[in-house]
Amino acid sequence: MKDYYAVLGVPRHAGQEEIKKAYRQLARRYHPDVNKGDREAAERFKEINEAYEILSDPEKRRRYDLYGEGAITTSVFDRGFQGFGDPLGDIFDLFFGRRQARTARMPRRGSDLMAVVEIDLEEAYAGARRTVEIPRHESCADCGGTGLESGYNLDLCPDCGGEGRITRTRRSAFGTFTSSTTCRRCGGVGEINTHPCSGCDGRGIVEIKESVEVDIPPGIEDGDRLRLPGKGEAGALGGPPGDLYVEVRVAEHEYFQREGEDLRAMVEVSMVEAALGTEVEIPTLNGTERLTIPAGSQPGQVFRLRGKGMPRLNSRGKGDLYLVLDVQVPDDLTAEQRRLLEEFQRLEAHKNRERGWMARLKKAVRPTT
Ligand SMILES: [Zn+2]
Ligand SMILES: [Zn+2]
Repeated sequence: MKDYYAVLGVPRHAGQEEIKKAYRQLARRYHPDVNKGDREAAERFKEINEAYEILSDPEKRRRYDLYGEGAITTSVFDRGFQGFGDPLGDIFDLFFGRRQARTARMPRRGSDLMAVVEIDLEEAYAGARRTVEIPRHESCADCGGTGLESGYNLDLCPDCGGEGRITRTRRSAFGTFTSSTTCRRCGGVGEINTHPCSGCDGRGIVEIKESVEVDIPPGIEDGDRLRLPGKGEAGALGGPPGDLYVEVRVAEHEYFQREGEDLRAMVEVSMVEAALGTEVEIPTLNGTERLTIPAGSQPGQVFRLRGKGMPRLNSRGKGDLYLVLDVQVPDDLTAEQRRLLEEFQRLEAHKNRERGWMARLKKAVRPTT
């Protein structure tokens, strides 16, 4: 993790003018136009610009001060759990004392956390309960969050004598040069922790795993997010905790297709069943339903079972279940079946004679499913 203040050679309390001035000087010195082909200078120039981009923007600077570089550049949602900003970056080691001494005096709300759970459609129908393990940072109980072994205090940094900066003077044939850089030992804080708390290695914060019960309400949809207030990271210095967001993924069902609160499925019947009518038993998400298919039902015909769809989220009532008729034509007739169908055809023959070819042609329609 980079110390942008050190990159620009400004103190951590530097004002915007000072930052701008330092940036301009450095940018001029390391500009690629005056350092043609110098890769080190090019690298440095890039770094300077990066530092200036963060430190010149008050909001980015504030987040950088609080959480470090990661808070600005890391995207959050690639894995199951992540904090919205990791308060335990390297910056914590570098600037621990400073946080205690200067910036971190104000109460700070804890970070929000994010978890993902996957359920199946039956669970989305009935509601479910899941336990998620949340990695969480808490104030260290051993040291009360100070990071110090009990009975000890922070010591003055021996490298900079508490100044936070190291000033070097060089004499040369051209005169005397004075350069000032942020103290590496204390990161500009002026104090160091020589007796770190053994419970937290001096960080003042420990990571714990906590199980959180999540109640998933009936009717939840894929991608819905539940918010559990106060279940995120602990706040600092009396600030409120963050929230936990649980994203629910609903797995595809074997045959039910969900459309909001409605469900849709295909029901397969034979050509003869469709012609003569039949009753079929339909397994639903909470039991079975009998569906009466009347004689003369057509392929693609849709039957609606009212109230047999998904429950409405946080509300009463349910959607409907739509069943689309899929009429199968047999392609494995036995000799006997074939004889009977030929007999049937002979009885139909006069119909076919009466209706010409034109009557068979219709405008194509989109399939209903
Ligand atoms: Zn501790
Ligand atoms: Zn120092």
